[in-house]
Amino acid sequence: MKTILSLDELENSEHKTLYFTFNEKIEGLNCVTPIHAQLCAKSLEDFVQITGNVKGKVLLECDLCLDKFEYDVDFELDEMFSKGSLIGDYTESGQEFEIKDGQFVTDLNGENEIDIYDLLYQSVILSFPNKKVCGINCKGKEYLTEENDITDPRLEVFNNLQINPKK
Ligand SMILES: [Zn+2]
Repeated sequence: MKTILSLDELENSEHKTLYFTFNEKIEGLNCVTPIHAQLCAKSLEDFVQITGNVKGKVLLECDLCLDKFEYDVDFELDEMFSKGSLIGDYTESGQEFEIKDGQFVTDLNGENEIDIYDLLYQSVILSFPNKKVCGINCKGKEYLTEENDITDPRLEVFNNLQINPKK
C-alpha cells in the first residue's frame, strides 16, 4: 500500500501520472471503516496535482448533545502542490497558500515526496461540517433554539433593526 508518493517515481511514470488506492484506518480519526481513496497524481510542470474520491465512515462527537455519531466521509479531493522552485523563496515548506479563489497550493519547497497518509488525514478533517450535529432529531436541539438564538447571524439583523416612527 502506497502512503508516500515519490516525486521521482511520478516523473518517470507514463504521462507523469500515477494511479493508486489507499484503504486503511487513519490514526487520529475515529475511523469506523477504513478510509478508501482512489487517487490520481499528475505532475504538471511546477505543480503536482492529486485528485480523487475519498470515502469512509468516522465517528464524530455531536456539538449539541455530545453523543458520538457516524459520519459518512465522501468528497472529491483536489490538492495542488508546488514543487517549490517558483514560490519557495518566501514560504516555508508545507505551508499552504492561495493562488486564486479557492485553489490552495501546498509548497513542497524541494521535498521529494508527498505523504498521502497525512494528506488524507488533513483533508478528511477539513471535510467535516463546521457544525457537527448527530441528526435532525438530536436531543440537544431544543437547548440550541432556546438558548443560542442570538449567536445565529441571521437573527442579528433583527437586533440592529431600528424602527423610525416618523418615517
Ligand atoms: Zn446530537
